[in-house]
Amino acid sequence: MLEIKNLVVSIEDKQIINGLNLKVAKGEVAAIMGPNGSGKSTLSYVIAGNEDYEVLDGEILLNGENILEMEASERAAAGVFLAFQYPLEIPGVGTMTFLKAAMNAQRKTRGEPELSTPDFIKQVNAAAEKLEISKEMMKRALNVGFSGGEKKRMEILQMALLQPSFCILDETDSGLDIDALRIVSEGVNALRSLDRSFLIITHYQRLLNHIVPDTVHVMSNGRIVKTGGKELALELEANGYADYRSAELA
Ligand code: ADP
Ligand code: MG
Ligand code: MG
Repeated sequence: MLEIKNLVVSIEDKQIINGLNLKVAKGEVAAIMGPNGSGKSTLSYVIAGNEDYEVLDGEILLNGENILEMEASERAAAGVFLAFQYPLEIPGVGTMTFLKAAMNAQRKTRGEPELSTPDFIKQVNAAAEKLEISKEMMKRALNVGFSGGEKKRMEILQMALLQPSFCILDETDSGLDIDALRIVSEGVNALRSLDRSFLIITHYQRLLNHIVPDTVHVMSNGRIVKTGGKELALELEANGYADYRSAELA
């Protein structure tokens, strides 16, 4: 489904991704773990189409098509979804208004008619209830005054409503307490399917106890330096990233 070949990315003349290769198959849940500053968020922004980053070399193929040629909105329409590490607060935009606009924009690109208000409300309420998002939260402006955990649950709510085919979760576990971690993980697990892939970016192993990955990649210094199964996450938890850092420097 996703294939990244020799990706090289810089921002403000600083090269951050240094010839990264990665494949994620259809239906696969792949985790990327790595120390702070290794370029994980940069990678997720570049896949989603953030234009602040300069792609110097390489390809990102989604179902065989190079998405580097596409605008962020076109990538979203093609099924790419990024749950942000730091979701933005958008004062003045109601949460419900935002969700309805996002769902209808997606339906438009698919040539589907707009959702009726009752259908929209029914879908949103059912998804919000599963994620234990209160009615009161839904009445506020998007993410404004939400706790860290509430913002992360709102990201998963968007994912549940938009049903993207390629989901990137950037440190969705950071700032979550145990209960929120369970709710978020259940939300993600409910979306796992044979035709949906996930890239789960995390600094810590604990999320992967809840969302069990098929593959674990270690990222260091802008590259994937090791790939293994879910046991690799446990090994990293026990030994830290020191082995991979020194391998890079050697
Ligand atoms: P990670 O998510 O793995 O912690 P990031 O992708 O956030 O890593 O950052 C990788 C490196 O790129 C860091 O050294 C960071 O300081 C740098 N970086 C990220 N964004 C910017 C930016 N907008 N301007 C300058 N440097 C940046
Ligand atoms: Mg970081
Ligand atoms: Mg990051």
